[in-house]
Amino acid sequence: MPADTHCPYCALQCAMSLTPVKGRDVGTGAPVTVAGRAFPTNRGGLCKKGWTSADLLATPDRLTTPLIRRAGRLQAATWEDALEFVAERLRTIRKGHGADAVGVFGGGGLTNEKAYLLGKFARLALGTSRIDYNGRFCMASAAAAGNRAFGIDRGMPFPVTDLDDADTILLLGSNVGATMPPFIGHLAGARTAGGLVVVDPRRSQTAQLTADDGGIHLQPAPGTDLALLLGLTHVVLAEGLADVSYLAERTTGIDALRRSVAPWWPERVQEHTGVPARLVREVARRLARGRGTYILTGRGVEQHVDGTDTATAAINLALVLGLVGRPGSGYGTLTGQGNGQGGREHGQKCDQLPGYRKITDPAARAAVAAVWGVEPDRIPGPGVPAVELLRMLGRPGGVRALLVHGSNVVVSGPDAGAIRRGLQSLDLLVVCDFVLSETAELADVVLPVTQWAEEEGTMTNLEGRVLRRRKALDPPAGVRSELVVLADLARRLGAPSAWPTDPAAVFDELARASAGGIADYSGLSHALLDAQSETGEAAHWPYPADSSGTPRLFLDRFATDDGRARLVAVRPRDLETGRLPGELTLITGRLLEHYQSGAQTRRVPELSAAQPEVRAELHPATAARLGIADGDAVIVRNVRGEVVARALLTAAMRVDTVFLPFHFAGRQCANLLTEAAVDPTSAMPEFKRTAVTVHRADSE
Ligand code: SF4
Repeated sequence: MPADTHCPYCALQCAMSLTPVKGRDVGTGAPVTVAGRAFPTNRGGLCKKGWTSADLLATPDRLTTPLIRRAGRLQAATWEDALEFVAERLRTIRKGHGADAVGVFGGGGLTNEKAYLLGKFARLALGTSRIDYNGRFCMASAAAAGNRAFGIDRGMPFPVTDLDDADTILLLGSNVGATMPPFIGHLAGARTAGGLVVVDPRRSQTAQLTADDGGIHLQPAPGTDLALLLGLTHVVLAEGLADVSYLAERTTGIDALRRSVAPWWPERVQEHTGVPARLVREVARRLARGRGTYILTGRGVEQHVDGTDTATAAINLALVLGLVGRPGSGYGTLTGQGNGQGGREHGQKCDQLPGYRKITDPAARAAVAAVWGVEPDRIPGPGVPAVELLRMLGRPGGVRALLVHGSNVVVSGPDAGAIRRGLQSLDLLVVCDFVLSETAELADVVLPVTQWAEEEGTMTNLEGRVLRRRKALDPPAGVRSELVVLADLARRLGAPSAWPTDPAAVFDELARASAGGIADYSGLSHALLDAQSETGEAAHWPYPADSSGTPRLFLDRFATDDGRARLVAVRPRDLETGRLPGELTLITGRLLEHYQSGAQTRRVPELSAAQPEVRAELHPATAARLGIADGDAVIVRNVRGEVVARALLTAAMRVDTVFLPFHFAGRQCANLLTEAAVDPTSAMPEFKRTAVTVHRADSE
């Protein structure tokens, strides 16, 4: 029987069926075949990553035995030895340095069940406040902006199929053509109507979609999106295009917002962004004219030190136009990681408990403690966000032991060289993974765990739709589920509470722990989701026990005290985009063939063959000035490090910018160059505006 499940990669969570192939095993070819499955998000389509995902199950370097570092080398060990080794070291470190000397780093690709249990494990079994996850590098700015404006953060507060009827879509900083190609189908209505507007410093695959259909591509200087959004809002207000009755009935803060955008004339916007003033006016007018208008943001505008304010400016624009909470229009942000939405709802964020509730809220602490069977004061207070947690590695008073689940942070984190040095300075690094990722290579203990098609669970996609991940085949001998690993370690550490290992039972506990929270899953269960899987229509949270889900949020009110959305006046804090002589601005991003740190997709032969190495994309004029030809080996460098890449000349680039994909490791790792400066509200690092120089490698 085929197993109906979802893709292991991105947040679109395309539906697929996996059929086991008889007689195949690890190392002898893919053990399942993949077929796309009809579902609202992908309508049967898959991208290259999805079609080749079965190869992950056959990767020849699959880990099947625990590893312990002895005499400087990772060596095979039994599960008993490995778990007792970890428990003993954790006990010693906690005794000598306190519970907060142990940190936990989670991931936005973990199932809801794993993310939930990891948060519980950190608080109850380790007693540490220091847990956070790689979603800080992904969704943190948009999440903070959504919470600030709407009182709730659900990436898309409407089903993705609502976009089908739109005639105008403003897509800022998202290259869906590479990251989630089936999503392009939902842009078809806007493309046909000539209403697709893409904002991206690169002429990406998605920006190219605007070419034939009367769409518009705006190509601002990296990091100036906030000024662009202020300019668009300025035009809407100055030309009387705002929805005045909506503003009066459903929002607060218009007077301060009006004052804040007043200085942002299109000509001033042009000066700062490079976007022609006439296009600023034209786009604002198109957005206002649209019969169905959506504004969507992605990491391109969010992964900045002013990412929260930029996402806020996009929300302000949507509110001024009266788009949010009305059927047929809206604002949304496109989550990146497979469980980027669910991963931030169940307690692996440093400041949150299950149900997306604040860990400082006494009522939330009491409710969750009751489910866990402990006193509320047993739950530690808030910890520190990811970048700060990583800065603490090995420091006095910082973190001396780190447990990593579902993250290859030595490739994906900002200033990756510093992260590597931090990991190497730890007393104990434990990594759960199914392959020896670059982070696992540094570990003292590696625990081999199940991967997507070998386990049951749930994921929450970019629409807040809770989906079933189903098991298609047994894991290889020697591999365990992280649920089993965490429960075993909790027992060895003498943790209170029950530690279920059956995914359905863990989900039931998660659902109880979320009851009454923002992300309320209390009406859901694996059984109910199974019953809904045919259509996949009804499982959008909040889904309390007496409801049938909430596909569209904000129809009547926002989740604020007075039910109104908050317009928040924001302004650019630093518009300095000039560079020292010879410097370019580095932007990082993704390729069609790879996913996140590449730990998975670099192991898929077809994907790896298509994109085997990092390419530095440069405008031909820039390359000519630097004496670089297409295919030359180049060095991209700044004070933090250097990357060796092959030059790819393309007119898609601005002349002041270089692009590196961040899927590659070693000397090809783009994050050797990025900076660990963070947004003060969301703690999002600056990934997309980094000063670098570029030289031909043989010129030194
Ligand atoms: Fe769909 Fe994303 Fe998987 Fe591609 S990677 S098949 S877009 S879920």
